[in-house]
This record gives sequence, C-alpha cells and structure tokens, in this order.
Amino acid sequence: MIANVQDESTLYQSICDIAVRYGHLKLAFIAKPDKDGIFRILAASGNTKYAYSAFISISPEILEGQGSSGKTWRNKVANYVQSFEKESFTAPWKNLAKKYVIKSSATIPIFKENDIWACLSVYHSEENVFTGDLKKLLEELSKDISIGLDRLDFRKKEKEISEIRKNIIENALIGIALVKNREILQVNPKFAKIFGYSDEKELVGKPTKILFYDEEEYERIDKLYNDLFINKKIELIEIRQKRRNNDLIICEATANVIDEKEKITIWTVQDITERKKAQLELERAYFLLNNIIENLPDATFVINSEGKIIAWNKALETLTGKTKEIMLGKDYLEYSILFYDKPRPLLANIILSNNEKLLKENYNLIYKSDNIIYAETFSPKIFNNAGAYVFVATSKLIDKKGNVIGAIESIRDISENKKMEEELYELSIKDSLTDSYNRRYFEKRLEEEIERTKRNKIPFSLIMFDIDDFKTINDNYGHAVGDRVLVEIVNFIKNRIRKTDFIARWGGEEFMILLTNTNLHYAEKLALELKDGICRLNIPEVKFVTASFGVTSYQHFDTVNSITKRVDDLMYAAKAAGKNCVRCSIYEI
Ligand code: GH3
Ligand code: MG
Ligand code: MG
Repeated sequence: MIANVQDESTLYQSICDIAVRYGHLKLAFIAKPDKDGIFRILAASGNTKYAYSAFISISPEILEGQGSSGKTWRNKVANYVQSFEKESFTAPWKNLAKKYVIKSSATIPIFKENDIWACLSVYHSEENVFTGDLKKLLEELSKDISIGLDRLDFRKKEKEISEIRKNIIENALIGIALVKNREILQVNPKFAKIFGYSDEKELVGKPTKILFYDEEEYERIDKLYNDLFINKKIELIEIRQKRRNNDLIICEATANVIDEKEKITIWTVQDITERKKAQLELERAYFLLNNIIENLPDATFVINSEGKIIAWNKALETLTGKTKEIMLGKDYLEYSILFYDKPRPLLANIILSNNEKLLKENYNLIYKSDNIIYAETFSPKIFNNAGAYVFVATSKLIDKKGNVIGAIESIRDISENKKMEEELYELSIKDSLTDSYNRRYFEKRLEEEIERTKRNKIPFSLIMFDIDDFKTINDNYGHAVGDRVLVEIVNFIKNRIRKTDFIARWGGEEFMILLTNTNLHYAEKLALELKDGICRLNIPEVKFVTASFGVTSYQHFDTVNSITKRVDDLMYAAKAAGKNCVRCSIYEI
C-alpha cells in the first residue's frame, strides 16, 4: 500500500492516518527539524491541534529539547513515554497533554538513505500501552516508511533522468528514430525535419522504405541489418534518402540495437547533402588541378606547407625516374637527392623558408619577388645521373584567406639552350675557316693580358706571321687549296703551343699568337721552330709553304695598338729581309 504512494507528503499523511486508525491512537504526526533545530510538522492525523501547538526542539540545552523527539533525533532510537504524568522531562508539554487527554507517547526515528530523516510521534489516551506488539508494529512501520522514502527517491531520480533523456532527444540536432521490423516506432522533431515532415506523428507506423530514394538503396541498407544484429552497431557514411517532396538527400547514420528480441533499433541520422556537395566540388577542383599539373610539359611538383610532396607529375617521373606513388608524402630530405648529390632544400622549400643564403649559394637567380622565384642551376642527378642545366620556377600557393599553404615548382631542362648559347658564343669569337680566334676576340684578350701584366709584372710575348706569296698559291692551285693551307698551318700551330696560349686570325693570311707568361727569348725560339715546321708541312698538291715572323714582348708603356704595330713592323721587316725568316724586338737590358 505504502509502496504505491507517488510523493513524500502523501506517504507521510497515509502513515499518520494508518497509525491513528489501526493503532487506536489519539494523534500521530511526522516532524522534521528545520535549520534552527525546531521540529516542523510534515503530516499529522487525529487530534492535530496538540501537534501544531507543541514547541519541540533538538537542542539538548533547553527543556523543549530534552523530550522524546529531541532524544530520538540525537540518539536515532525510538523513545517511549509510558506515563506523561510520572515522567519529569515531559514538563514543557504537561498542560497541553492534559488539555488534549494525552497520557503516553512513542517517538520512532524515520531513516532515509541510512540516516535519520524525521520522527514519527504517536500519542495515546491511556498509560502503559506502548508494549510488546504495538512497539513492534510501530518499529515495523518506521522501517516501511524508510523503504518507501528510499523507493520514492529512486523513482524521482529515475523520472528526472527520463525527463532529461526526453529533452535531449526532443532538442537533439540530429535525427533520431526508433525502428522495429523496418517500421518507424518513434522519431524526434529533427528527424521529421530532415525528411521534410512537419509533425513527428506523420512518420509513426510508416515503413522505413518511404525514407529511401530508390528501391536499390533500400535493399542495400536492408542487407546491412544482419551486420547490425551481429555487431550491435553499424555506421553508414552515405545513404541516398528521400524527402517528403521526393528530393534526394544524402545522410550519414548510425544504428544501434536496443532490443534484440523485439528487433528494435535506434537510428541517428544527419543530413550531409550540403557538406557532400561542397566536398564533391572540392574534389572536382582538385581533380582538375591535378590533371593540369599531371600533364604540364615541365617537370612539376607541389609541396604543402610542411614541405611534403602532394603532387608529382609525369614529366618529373621522366626526369627523376621516380613515380608519383613513391614520392607522395615525402619530404625534402628524400626528394632533393633525386636532383643533387646532397639532401638540401629545393627552390620550392626556399621560397617557403625565404632563405636568401641557400638561394644565393645554389642558384643563378633570374627573378625574385615575394611569391615567385626564377633561377637556373645545374642538376647533376637527373636523367639517370646524366645531369642537366635546368631553369627552375617556383611560386607560393596561397589560399582565400591569404595563408601560404604550399609551393609549386617547375623544372625545365635547358641543356640544349645552354649548349646553343655556348656554340653561339664560340661562333662569335672564332674564325669559321681555321677555327682560330677572330681579331675582335684577340684584341679583347690582348687588352686583358696587358692589364694583367701591369698588375703581376709577368711578361707575355706576341708572334705575328704572314704566309709568303700566298697569292701565288691561290693562283697556282686554286682558292680551295689555299683555304686548306690556312687550316693546316693553324692546326700545326695549335698543336705546338700551350693551352694558355692562343692563335687568332688577324687578316687574310696573317695570324697573331699570344704567349702568356713568356719572355722574348722563348718567344723567338718558338717562332723559329714554327717557321721551320711550316716549311716542312706536307700539304697535298702544295710543294711547300713558308711564312715570315715578327716577335716582340710586352713593354711597360705598351697599348694594344703599340704592341701590335711593333710586331707588324717586325713581320714586315722579315718580309723585307727575304721572307721565311723571323725578326725579333731588340732585347731589353
Ligand atoms: P707576301 O709574301 O708579300 O705576303 O705575298 P702575298 O701574296 O702573300 O701577299 P698578299 O697580301 O698580296 O696576298 C694575300 C692573298 O691571300 C690575297 C688573298 O687572295 C689571299 N687570301 C686572303 N684570305 C684568303 C682565304 O681565306 N683563302 C684563300 N684561299 N686565300 C686568301
Ligand atoms: Mg702574304
Ligand atoms: Mg698578307
């Protein structure tokens, strides 16, 4: 009977009522001390006027605290007063008891969660009645109350929890549905909203099939029920579902088994249509970009802000011999060694770290701004260690908000250009027939040599020679043979002089030889040797060729003009002296 009571005050009241009725008592009340230690009535039955008039305290210092209630509260045991008349501690209430014909009383502690909570006090109009069975009955009653109170408390807590639970479900930002045998038992408002229903009730009792975009998708999820009941839980990342207006929505869901026997499952559902759309768009953009990079003619890679490879194109695979699959995710220690002998930051890493020193040390800078660097360098490891001169372009990759998110680097093999450049240069300084240097280049080198000698005082010498009677050779054997004579003589001289010396064509069949680090004595000796050598040259068809030589050395006052004029004069002196001879400057003392 007590167990069915719904709340505490009803429980107290029924206890008091029962005690009065079945115990033939004058009065029963339940009281609990307030914060000041004064008993306040929680419920009372019978002649309640006494209860509301009596002042009772828990304080042992005052008389009103020395009665049964005070003692029961402090000692947590029942107290019986067999005779109000005979006991002295009943003094404060004696008159009141007389007025309401009260002769005896019993005070029993009421416990809640193992501690004293209140006192049940009962009063009788006769003395000596609280014995044996009645005592037992009262103490039983007190126990019952305690159990009832604890149970009530538990129920209250349970109710609170279920209230909270309900609140959470009602206000959840994800859709929640209870499903039994593919039929909707219950949904929360958010669930209804996701699927375009204005009221949750519209979905109750409906087959879950109405929530799927097509038969195929329904079947697919249906098959997953086996897994669900085996694993008690499944997660679905993408379900094609249908709104009330038949629109397609993409959902993410989890399902948990609530009741295995009853086949009840709980589903949480989130509409990820928008997220999915954005993701697809991003994927498309990324795919497009990757495609562009992949097929760029220049070897190209992309690194993220941490320097790790996030794109590596086909041309780069050719250049390095390493595939995209291998290189994705690698850092500079691993990719720089595909280009250089030692691991070191590449231009893309340099633009991110803004390391001017590394840039200067390793590259021939062409252009630089905050976001772009163009540079040239030699990369010894590419093309299977053949190496190549490369043009490298890098630029920072910046997102919408202006954050640097990485860098892209393109590498172009410019070996061909370099070679052509060198060839062009060679052409510009050389005579095409004899492959000796031309006069302009000779004059430039001579000027440099004069400057150098002025600084380091190391002498240099100059030999000039002119082929004798060359006109006759042309006339006798033809111009082509004359050409060959020129080539043969130059080749002969090139073989005789040192690497640091060089021969240049000064005019038609006149040549200059610049001898670095050479004094007049040695130069004269060499000129004589060359003269004799030319005589002995074995040129088909031509019987013999001779040449006349002038030899001089640098003097401290010399200019390009003065020294060439002097050697020219000496050469003409040799001609005047009968040709096929050497004329040398007078030795300085
Ligand atoms: P000398 O002994 O006084 O030097 O007599 P020479 O005939 O060598 O003198 P000259 O300077 O009068 O003649 C040089 C000739 O060389 C004139 C020109 O036709 C010829 N010559 C100049 N350049 C070339 C060339 O590239 N090929 C050929 N085959 N002949 C050339
Ligand atoms: Mg000549
Ligand atoms: Mg000449």
